[in-house]
Amino acid sequence: MNETPPAVAAAFAALFGAVVGSFLNVCIYRLPLGTSIVWPASACPHCHREIEWFENIPIFSWLVLRGRCRTCGNPIGVQYPLVEAITAVMFGAAWWYYGPGVLLVSRLVFGCALIVLFAIDLEHHLLPNVITLPGIVIGFAFSFFTTPGWLDSLIGIVVGGGSLLLMFYLYLLVRKKEGLGMGDPKMLAMIGAFLGWKMTLVALMFASFSGSLVGVTMMVTRRGSLESMLPFGCFLAIGAAIAGTIGPSMVQWYLRLF
Ligand SMILES: [Zn+2]
Repeated sequence: MNETPPAVAAAFAALFGAVVGSFLNVCIYRLPLGTSIVWPASACPHCHREIEWFENIPIFSWLVLRGRCRTCGNPIGVQYPLVEAITAVMFGAAWWYYGPGVLLVSRLVFGCALIVLFAIDLEHHLLPNVITLPGIVIGFAFSFFTTPGWLDSLIGIVVGGGSLLLMFYLYLLVRKKEGLGMGDPKMLAMIGAFLGWKMTLVALMFASFSGSLVGVTMMVTRRGSLESMLPFGCFLAIGAAIAGTIGPSMVQWYLRLF
């Protein structure tokens, strides 16, 4: 038997993740612009020169070029290697934790969607339908073959989308303006499809908690008002990442307290 040692397999998964992260960067950059994510080839956003293959090696190229375009010398944002590194770690860790199978693929697809939504919402205050809506369908489709199962997933879609839609209209009623975007309910419905309704509530709890924590901190330090705080989709992504990984064990620990 010459089986690949788990650590080597996880390292290969991480390498593959870095390449996927490079593609996520393209999605993050192009989806808000409404341009194709497959054509044309990547170019420098400043001088528009096409990127050569050797400038496109995840993380490595950015480090070698010290974060600058080879031609015009303009800075290339640190978010590019950062997204690649986070995706690489996610792929390596998920392979290590889940092993090959449907659940691994489901969690990786979900994780990639969260990374793209986080980055786009952070920069553009936007949660594109082209991610959230297919995400709901894909998450529900996966649930027929792996956890949380189709019924939990279906309830998750309704509970996730419904709870934030309710908040959206309540806020509109009380404050006479929109507090949430319409993208947030769709994103939480997607989270519900992948994680099921219980972990969706855990994700929403963490998102609201971290959101208000940051919001209060910003108000106390007078760095901005509630309106200027981080978009809620970023907190939903963080909450979903927590719920999707350590959520179940946290709930078990909490329930044992009583
Ligand atoms: Zn350039």
